[in-house]
Amino acid sequence: MPQKITERVGVYPGTFDPITNGHTDIIARGARLVDKLVIGVARNIGKAPMFDLEERVELVRAETAAISDRTGTTIEVRSFDTLLISFAQSCGANVILRGLRAVSDFDYEFQMAGMNYRLNHDIDTVFLMASEHHQFISSRFVKEIAQLGGDVSSFVPSLTLERTLAKVRA
Ligand code: ADP
Repeated sequence: MPQKITERVGVYPGTFDPITNGHTDIIARGARLVDKLVIGVARNIGKAPMFDLEERVELVRAETAAISDRTGTTIEVRSFDTLLISFAQSCGANVILRGLRAVSDFDYEFQMAGMNYRLNHDIDTVFLMASEHHQFISSRFVKEIAQLGGDVSSFVPSLTLERTLAKVRA
């Protein structure tokens, strides 16, 4: 039997290219469920990110500071370039937190959760449903819309908006 959990440590991994209101919603809700939340920013060169790793970490840190103050949950932001389960283990995590939008997320998330569980039975994946208001937000579309001159101000927090606009105007 797995041991009873005394300090609940969650890892919320993602590319965060860039962080959106969908992500911050999951972070705020997730922060209420754990004692400490580590947000893992994956280098993910394969996705050819718009923001480099350091910028993504800086934005995630800035946009989540208020959540930590509000909830009293320690939020740490760390980059990682390793297997997710190894990163989660190195954080002393009991749970991996993921957000679920439409059915299209399900297949990938289901497989990833299954594989990770096979790799380490002590770390479970917990899914939070995207809230109604953020259901359709994705980093990918934020970038595409911004690049084509569309208004993304209701999809991303303020500093991220500023940086995204600066990127597409550069
Ligand atoms: P990845 O490259 O790992 O998919 P993302 O940064 O795109 O990283 O997403 C990180 C996590 O946040 C994933 O679990 C994703 O499903 C979830 N997520 C992304 N956008 C939203 C949203 N609008 N609402 C809820 N969860 C979301």
